[in-house]
Amino acid sequence: MSALKTQTLGYPRIGREREMKRALERYWKDKIDGAALLQTLVDVELDAWSAQREAGIDYIGVGDATLYDPVLDWALRMGLVPKRYHGLDGLDLTFAMARGKEGVPALELTKWFDTNYHYLVPEVEADVQPKANFADYLDTIRRARKELGERAVPIVLGPVTLLRLARVQGSFSDVLAALLPLYQDLLGQLKGLGVQEVQMHEPALVLGDAQKHRQHYSSTYETLAQAGLPINLVTFFDDLGAAYPWVAALPVDTLTLDFTHGDSTALMASNGWPQGKTLGAGILNGRGVWQLRPGETLATVQALARQAPLRLSMSCSLQFVPYEAARETALPEELRNVLAFALEKLHELQLLGQAGAEAPLSAELSAYDASWERFKAFAPREPGVQKTIDGLTPQDFERSLPYGKRRNQQIKLPPLPTTTIGSFPQTVEVRRLRRRFKLGQINRAEYEAGVDAWIGYTIGAQEGIGLDVLVHGEFERSDMVEYFAEKMKGFAFTDNGWVQSYGNRYVRPPIIFADVVRKGPMTVREYAKAQSFTTKPVKGMLTGPVTILNWSYPRTDITAREITLQLALALREEIADLEAAGARIIQVDEPALREGLPLKPERWDEYLSWSVDAFRLATGQAKPETQIHTHMCYAKFGEILGAIDRLNADVISIENARSDDETLRELEQYGYRRAVGPGVYDVHSPVIPGKAEIKAKVQIYLKHLEANQIWINPDCGLKTRSWDKVFPALSHIVEAVAEVRAELPTANP
Ligand code: GLN
Ligand code: ZN
Repeated sequence: MSALKTQTLGYPRIGREREMKRALERYWKDKIDGAALLQTLVDVELDAWSAQREAGIDYIGVGDATLYDPVLDWALRMGLVPKRYHGLDGLDLTFAMARGKEGVPALELTKWFDTNYHYLVPEVEADVQPKANFADYLDTIRRARKELGERAVPIVLGPVTLLRLARVQGSFSDVLAALLPLYQDLLGQLKGLGVQEVQMHEPALVLGDAQKHRQHYSSTYETLAQAGLPINLVTFFDDLGAAYPWVAALPVDTLTLDFTHGDSTALMASNGWPQGKTLGAGILNGRGVWQLRPGETLATVQALARQAPLRLSMSCSLQFVPYEAARETALPEELRNVLAFALEKLHELQLLGQAGAEAPLSAELSAYDASWERFKAFAPREPGVQKTIDGLTPQDFERSLPYGKRRNQQIKLPPLPTTTIGSFPQTVEVRRLRRRFKLGQINRAEYEAGVDAWIGYTIGAQEGIGLDVLVHGEFERSDMVEYFAEKMKGFAFTDNGWVQSYGNRYVRPPIIFADVVRKGPMTVREYAKAQSFTTKPVKGMLTGPVTILNWSYPRTDITAREITLQLALALREEIADLEAAGARIIQVDEPALREGLPLKPERWDEYLSWSVDAFRLATGQAKPETQIHTHMCYAKFGEILGAIDRLNADVISIENARSDDETLRELEQYGYRRAVGPGVYDVHSPVIPGKAEIKAKVQIYLKHLEANQIWINPDCGLKTRSWDKVFPALSHIVEAVAEVRAELPTANP
């Protein structure tokens, strides 16, 4: 029997008890000093190392621990600091770049590839002089070597990916050339410490534009090879696509590929494997929460072992999964036993390594099959849902009347109708109310009375401000996905399943483990209560199927398409109930639709086809007189305007405040016909927009769109704002719109 070596590519770094979050927040409030904060970082990292050492991992990725974000860390280590931060250093500099400081904006946060983690976008100014700043990192590696010896493999963010993810002002090639000596120096120093191998993470190799950077990658790895330290070139999140042949030929010792996303198997089969190179086979999905299915994975391992010298790997860092499934004792055992978070995945990797490529299943691996069998009996398919999906016809995805016809049957509103996106301030009081109910300190009747009081207040506020279309405020929702997930069968929730969204923000995504079925009305009570307080129209407010999918851990035994259609059917029932309760306007939010776009543009059509279908299935059976809204928190969707159009929503509200009206031009050029609410005000900025400013924006909208096509609203929900900001901001909107209306040629008296 030949055992196989194992490797990890990063570990959760928030602390088992969320120690990093607590330490960061206490540091920011001046309750602990910098030394205490850094000690927490060291402790959390030590804990991660010992878990991996105890699991017997052979090549343990180290150096990914971070106070806020590793991309920021690498920008700092390379001296890529924009001028507005000059004069700051140490933790002040780090946190100014991460979170901003009075008068000094932070770096932009954006999604890390197609995950729900957000990194800080480095800004590389044209005249920047890269400068090495490796002391802290090298200290970490020294400590790692003390703990793990030769098993410690430093993780380094590769230079091409660092720049590809940055905003580079000057020439990409020039900055890269300036960075390479620093990287070379770093590898030299690591070698000096006795390090045996370095992981160069270059996930940008899986992006559609990797080809464009071929020269950059070649020059980088030819240069870095000269340091004489063995390099493991690590890629993840997708296969290498057309870049495979030349990436495989780069002068590195080991190449790590993801076998859980894309089709690296096919690329290897058709292109072969380069002589002498070791394959790091990412066979355990670092982004999923499901336990190994030994038969499937061993078959992959055996096939790969015939083609390449092999070591077994996680597909990517384990930062995307929580620490430990065994801790979730509130979950039914049948489900818990098929979950694998970081710690369980380490154990799986160890077992697979021991089994090697030839051995029959060990007793422990066979036990996994038994858990899966028990789970299957615990979570049987819902024949009803499957039958409905099989029986869907094109009409299920289609409104009964085209936009031009149904539009006249929908609610009559003044020109340039004003509204908000849904949530109102989630104050301490609101959060305390929900918490007390959850802890059983108040009963349902008391809780609902509390929510209703907030709804009443919010309706009164909106009437007082003079908005045209009101919302109930979403006080009953802690989270726009979790709230719905709790009201549908097929979802499970963890107590400790936190993963980092960014910095000190962690989320606990629900797990979709079975067929999704609505248990009963989800939003009707709150809608009806809100509507009972006013004669103005109140919007029904739902989270769309694609967003629920993208912000959960999906099951893997059926396709994402099928899960999303199940979610859409549940929402379709909810829409019918809202209509029956009198709703004439229903909003189905899809902020995550664009986020889910595959990394390679050639896969967009397929994704957009089923994701847009799911939205159409959810909303298609709405009566023609029901006005369907959707909301997306971003602009810059020029590339997917066709898909946006195919949603067939009557009104779409979008972010626009920060994107320089580019979206308006795109909509105009495209000839978009249905109604649009471009965000007139950036809710995430502390600045309250003035009336004149809003008026000027509305006038710009009128240049690009027809007056009867335009809605006026903020660019996102107001839940993170405070009432004292919301009142003036919304009042200015209403005042500005009143003035523009009076000036409209066809203004209603
Ligand atoms: N209706 C939600 C809200 O207002 C939409 C949130 C979002 O777009 N992320 O909070
Ligand atoms: Zn939004």
